[in-house]
Amino acid sequence: MVLKQWLQRGSRLLQQGMPGYCAFCMASALPGQGWCAACLKELPWNLHACQQCGDPVAHKTPLCGHCLTEPPAYTATQAGLLYQGAIKQLVHDFKFHASPRAGTLLVELMLLTPPAIQGDALLSVPMTTAHARTRGFNQSHWLAEQLGKKCDMPLVNARRIKDSPSQRTLNRRQRAANLAGAFAFEGPLPAHIVIVDDVVTTGSTGHALAQAALDAGASQVDIWAAARTPLGKD
Ligand SMILES: [Zn+2]
Ligand SMILES: [Zn+2]
Repeated sequence: MVLKQWLQRGSRLLQQGMPGYCAFCMASALPGQGWCAACLKELPWNLHACQQCGDPVAHKTPLCGHCLTEPPAYTATQAGLLYQGAIKQLVHDFKFHASPRAGTLLVELMLLTPPAIQGDALLSVPMTTAHARTRGFNQSHWLAEQLGKKCDMPLVNARRIKDSPSQRTLNRRQRAANLAGAFAFEGPLPAHIVIVDDVVTTGSTGHALAQAALDAGASQVDIWAAARTPLGKD
């Protein structure tokens, strides 16, 4: 979808209560928005992305090589921005400094680039207990709550039943094995679930969570994230 259409879809939701200065350069913001026109244009938009995993692809290619050969359990990924530059800083402020202003901006940016199909319910990514202890704030859950309110969508919750060791040093296949059986659901799930997260990196967490949701009765699982880390750059 082209940027202009995104902006038209999102603009109605942005007319409410943002401060008057651009979050990125402190110039005057566009009326009712958190940014100025120049900065909005300069943001690292993820304009040509694989429909399934959101990884940047060449223009007019619907799917990336990974999704063609080894498709993940989720059907579509909507990640309107790339995890670079100003967006990296914004996510950092949100995630590690729990900045509500940064979080609100991420929500507004996500609403500019909504998924093509809304789905029945939003699902956040549960944290490991180790993470919960050190950070005490689940950024995925916070985003899902805000988006649920704005889009009038219910939330469903997964539990983490296995604490996987750090994913950092593992390759794609190892990450998937590491996360298998890590999530569980209580009660029946609606048919179409949308996983909400701040940044999609390898997609292996999304894959494991989507597989768990499908096993628990969902018929389609998509991902809606603020930003995508291009593969190989995490
Ligand atoms: Zn600006
Ligand atoms: Zn892909």
